[in-house]
Amino acid sequence: MRMRKFEFFSPSSLVEALGLLKQHGAKAKLIAGGTDLVVQMKEKLVTPERVINLLNVPELMGMSENGKSLRIGALVKHAALENSPLLRDGWEILAAAAHKLGSPQVRHLGTLGGNLCNASPAADTAPALLVLEAKATLVSQEKERRIPLGSFFTGPGLTVLKEDEILKEIFIPEVPANSSWAYLKLGRRKSLDLALVSVAILLFMDPAAGTCQKARVALGAVSPTPMRARETEKFLEGRKLEEKVIREAGKIAQGECQPISDIRASAEYRKEMVMVLVERAIKKSLGIPIPPTGI
Ligand SMILES: Cc1cc2nc3c(=O)[nH]c(=O)nc-3n(C[C@H](O)[C@H](O)[C@H](O)COP(=O)(O)OP(=O)(O)OC[C@H]3O[C@@H](n4cnc5c(N)ncnc54)[C@H](O)[C@@H]3O)c2cc1C
Repeated sequence: MRMRKFEFFSPSSLVEALGLLKQHGAKAKLIAGGTDLVVQMKEKLVTPERVINLLNVPELMGMSENGKSLRIGALVKHAALENSPLLRDGWEILAAAAHKLGSPQVRHLGTLGGNLCNASPAADTAPALLVLEAKATLVSQEKERRIPLGSFFTGPGLTVLKEDEILKEIFIPEVPANSSWAYLKLGRRKSLDLALVSVAILLFMDPAAGTCQKARVALGAVSPTPMRARETEKFLEGRKLEEKVIREAGKIAQGECQPISDIRASAEYRKEMVMVLVERAIKKSLGIPIPPTGI
């Protein structure tokens, strides 16, 4: 499939990129790795007259630990995330999610910023970042604002980003020491497929009482945006995570999600799988063996 003709710009600073975006507005599209945008342009789902390449903008690059939080530039690729020694002490859940995205080729091209700004409900990095309570820095020529990632997504393919804004970076706060996590993704095949359902779990256990102090649960591909399962979280908190409690948590998560039927799976199947995956994710994060299905 051939793309429509477009003008290509390659700014070498954030100021220059923001200036181009302001100048060309709705006629322009930003491109990072291009693994979503190029497909959409070929299918003529988007037909920008101008494409602004972000890959040479240094302000969007790199990862660093600032005190107790981690800064990840929007241009950081999934391959860098899956192998980063900085993703430890609870932050590993993001590495695990990045590892499940696409194929090695896609992970070497695709960026964290692109995955979030494309705003697929099935985006692999989103549930992991939601349970990590990450924040996103959005910049325009006029101002810079930092918002919780939980308020970034507004619908399938939609975010709060304004026409003249760029996602600059993500900040992840420190994760308390008594945490355990799991990221499970169900696709139609084991790799190179979008999630039919994904589940990220971060649990904070009270080792003395054997109860769950705090739970964070996020679901992908089962609502218009990646979502936190707040009812499930509330149910888990303060309880001993025994078999029947874990099973009930799966049922509550099933009731919280609103999947749709599409060519890849029915809403009913997705709901069933939310229950199964939430149960398994809780067990996995607690070190309880789960069936070796590869999810
Ligand atoms: C074969 C294949 C398999 C895939 N498998 C998966 C998968 O398993 N899981 C998954 O989640 N995704 C998957 N994807 C989708 C894609 O690879 C990811 O979403 C990737 O992270 C997109 O990043 P990118 O840098 O390529 O984004 P681009 O394609 O460059 O951009 C995507 C969108 O984000 C906007 N954008 C990019 N960067 C910024 C920024 N900094 N600020 C504002 N807007 C920005 C662009 O304008 C565009 O609208 C797959 C894609 C392919 C082709």
